[in-house]
Amino acid sequence: MSSDRTAGGPQVVVVVGASLAGLLAAAAAAQAGRAVTVLERDELTGNPQPRKGVAQSSQPHVLLHRGLLDATTLLPGLPRALLDAGAVRIDTGTMPWFGPHGWQPSWISSFDVLSLTRPRLEHVVRTLVLGLPGVRVRTGSRVDGLQRDGVGWRVRCADGGSVWGDLVVDASGRGSRMPSWLAALGHPRDEPETVDANLGYASRLYRRPDGAPLPTGIVVQATPEVPRGGLGLPVEDGGWMVLASGYGADRPGRDVDLRQYLATLRDPVLAEVLAGLEPVGKVSLHRQTGNRRHRYGLRRGWPSGLLVVGDALCAFNPLYGQGIAVGAGQARVLRDALGGRRWSSPRVQRRLRRVADFPWSVATGEDLRYLGMTGSASWLRRLSDAWTTEVGFLLMAGDRRAFRTFSRLYHLMGSPLELLHPALVLAAVRRHRRPATAAPPRPAVVASMIVPGPGQAQSSAGRSGPPRARTVSSVSTSAGPSSGR
Ligand SMILES: Cc1cc2nc3c(=O)[nH]c(=O)nc-3n(C[C@H](O)[C@H](O)[C@H](O)COP(=O)(O)OP(=O)(O)OC[C@H]3O[C@@H](n4cnc5c(N)ncnc54)[C@H](O)[C@@H]3O)c2cc1C
Repeated sequence: MSSDRTAGGPQVVVVVGASLAGLLAAAAAAQAGRAVTVLERDELTGNPQPRKGVAQSSQPHVLLHRGLLDATTLLPGLPRALLDAGAVRIDTGTMPWFGPHGWQPSWISSFDVLSLTRPRLEHVVRTLVLGLPGVRVRTGSRVDGLQRDGVGWRVRCADGGSVWGDLVVDASGRGSRMPSWLAALGHPRDEPETVDANLGYASRLYRRPDGAPLPTGIVVQATPEVPRGGLGLPVEDGGWMVLASGYGADRPGRDVDLRQYLATLRDPVLAEVLAGLEPVGKVSLHRQTGNRRHRYGLRRGWPSGLLVVGDALCAFNPLYGQGIAVGAGQARVLRDALGGRRWSSPRVQRRLRRVADFPWSVATGEDLRYLGMTGSASWLRRLSDAWTTEVGFLLMAGDRRAFRTFSRLYHLMGSPLELLHPALVLAAVRRHRRPATAAPPRPAVVASMIVPGPGQAQSSAGRSGPPRARTVSSVSTSAGPSSGR
């Protein structure tokens, strides 16, 4: 394959897929002054609605703080546009969160997220990106192959049309056909790494009967011992998006009763809140949630003028909320590379892959615990898990540095090396000298969210203490970065 170590780099960009990774890649190329055509197989309407090409459209989506910052460098008007579209600002530090060791402290402020439904988020991003100079989209155009054409590619569509570009960016998601397109071009087949903990999602939108918004979200995490979790998140128009999730045999099925399912979690708080809400629409299931990462760019001979981003390159267990943030980070890498002095597609592809390194280690490290495969982990991994657990205990005891460190890791804002800060080591030594402290009680705001439904007794609605008395040091499960916020 021809090399493309050129000054100036490619000029005409074709992006396959107009979902979040593709749109942000298009914004990146436009910011670097390139002309961009986005090819999308779905017809896109002017309204935010779930669509076939994004099967996860009806599921809750959180945009981690790192993702919001990176996307905002490409689309400076994004936070304002999200708020104008009804996004709800949530302080993820004070949001009630039942982690592996019980209710976490909810008095330490942390990063905000702007919460809204996935179709609304994508619609806002799409409107901003399609308003950028040099960007156009062709809808109803399903790409079915690539062909070399001079220094670039002819991108063929199923309707018989084609588009030329000297850089093609595949952002066509988990279902990307890139492995077979590469094979057709004579490249060895890529065998992706996979870790699939068989997580299942069941979600539904709810509202209060009087339409008043709920003040915050609630998370109840699963553990390997009780592999069922859930969350409720405020979204636009007074909605509360509710998720029930379970691993393996605990995956919610087609006939799931969400309230009954959520009543079986380690704390039944979500079922209690749900009792006072009315469903809007139907329950949506999703089971394509395994972690899968391709090795594109690692072998010699990666084709010039070709890049793969987003879920097409690396898809995660969605529970960690990382996919969009990784797509936004990759878009920044693309913009910087296009604006740089020398261009090399294999090198850029390797950089794109590296954006996913830390999120991948978080998601797969946690999922291996659900698969009962921690025994085969390296000694370094086991040591790091044990230390992370220790810092998790500090978090539960209200240590602000431990809390902020987990928050920074969860939002992809910091480095795992921050876990080794001497102040945390000192705090851990001191903790071992003191008697165990009690886990914090259920946050007070929860009581205001539980409205007795028809026929429901006031007593259960009014409960505000923790369901079981626990001491922080008596729980053995590990606290990964997913237990921060
Ligand atoms: C259940 C679930 C929940 C999730 N929750 C979160 C979350 O909370 N936070 C988060 O950050 N991420 C979350 N994710 C991940 C997130 O949805 C993706 O990372 C994000 O949408 C970016 O994906 P993408 O753009 O690469 O691909 P996708 O969103 O899958 O989009 C692919 C696009 O390519 C188009 N396409 C496909 N094939 C072709 C073709 N041949 N020609 C033309 N167009 C094509 C499709 O129509 C679609 O528009 C979740 C994922 C799932 C499954």
